[in-house]
Amino acid sequence: MTNQMQHVSGNTRRVTPHPSHPDRNEESHYRFASKILALSGILQSTLEINELLALFAKEIREFIKYDGLTYRFPSLKIDIKLGDQPANNCAYELVVAGDHLGDLNFFRHYPFEASELEAIENLLAGLLYPLRNTLLYQRAVESATIDPLTGVRNRAAMDSSMKREIGLALRHNTPLSVILMDLDHFKSINDRYGHLYGDQALKAAAQCAEQSIRESDMIFRYGGEEFLILLTGTDLQGAELLAERIRHNVGALPPQTEKAIQMTVSLGVTSLEQGDDMNSLFQRMDSALYRAKDSGRNRVVIGTTADA
Ligand code: GH3
Ligand code: MG
Ligand code: MG
Repeated sequence: MTNQMQHVSGNTRRVTPHPSHPDRNEESHYRFASKILALSGILQSTLEINELLALFAKEIREFIKYDGLTYRFPSLKIDIKLGDQPANNCAYELVVAGDHLGDLNFFRHYPFEASELEAIENLLAGLLYPLRNTLLYQRAVESATIDPLTGVRNRAAMDSSMKREIGLALRHNTPLSVILMDLDHFKSINDRYGHLYGDQALKAAAQCAEQSIRESDMIFRYGGEEFLILLTGTDLQGAELLAERIRHNVGALPPQTEKAIQMTVSLGVTSLEQGDDMNSLFQRMDSALYRAKDSGRNRVVIGTTADA
C-alpha cells in the first residue's frame, strides 16, 4: 500500500509515514518524529470529521505556523473551514492507495518555505489513515440515512432531524417551516406507463426539489411519493415562496422518456408556532396538503393555527 500526497500547485510529492526533517537539530528532530507517531494515535480518538480536522489543526500548531485551513470532500458534502484564509496557501490532494481522500489547504499571510512544506507533508502522513477511517464511517452513516431510489434522506433521518430542529427552534425562538410535497395522480402514471417509468419520474421529482432548496434546507422521502422539506430559519412567507418555486420547477421537468407526460405536485406548507410539538406541526402541514389536493391539485396551500 502506498501513501501519496499530491502538491496540487506543482510537483507530486510522495511521502512515507516515517518522518525525516533535515533542517532540525537532533532534539527537535526526535520531538517531531515522536509527534508524528503520537498524532495518528490522537486522531484515532474520533470518527467525526469536524472533530478530526479540529484536532489535527490544534496538534500541528506546535510545528507549523498557519492562519487557517480548509478541507473539502464533495461527494459526502464535506466543506470545512477553520481560521482565516489569507492569500498564501499550500494545497494537497490526499490519496491513499488510489483512494481520493479530499483536498486540504493551509493558509497564511506570508509564504510557506520549502522546509515547512516538508514538515506539513510529514504531519499529513499522520492524518491519512484516521481520515480514511472517518470517511468510511461517514459513508456508512450516509448510506443508512439515504433513500436508495431517490437519493434524498430517508424517513429514519427525517424523524431525528425533525425532533432536533423543532427542539432548537422552540428553545431559541427561531423560525422553522415545513413543506409536504405529494406527486399528483401518481398511481395513474404508474398504471399507464409502468412502475419503471414511475420510479424514474419519482427520482426526477425528488432531485428537482432538492436542487430547488438551499444547502441548509433538508429534503426527506416521507413515504411512497411524498417528500418532506425542512426549512430551519425560514418563516411562513419564505416557505411559501420556496414551495411555489418547487411546484413550478417540478412542473417544468422534461418527461423521463419520449412519452409526453406532465408531472405536477401539490404542497402543504406550515410554520412552527408557539405551543406546537411535532404532532401538531405535522397535522397542520398534512391538512394543508389535503386541501391542496381537494381544491384541484398542482398548488400550494398554507396551513396556520387559524384554520384549525
Ligand atoms: P393524489 O393526486 O391524490 O396524490 O393521487 P396519487 O395517485 O398520487 O395517490 P395515491 O396515494 O392513490 O397513490 C400513490 C401511488 O404512488 C401509488 C403507488 O403505487 C405509487 N408509489 C409509491 N411509491 C412508489 C415507488 O417507489 N415507485 C413507484 N413507481 N410508484 C410508487
Ligand atoms: Mg401520497
Ligand atoms: Mg400522490
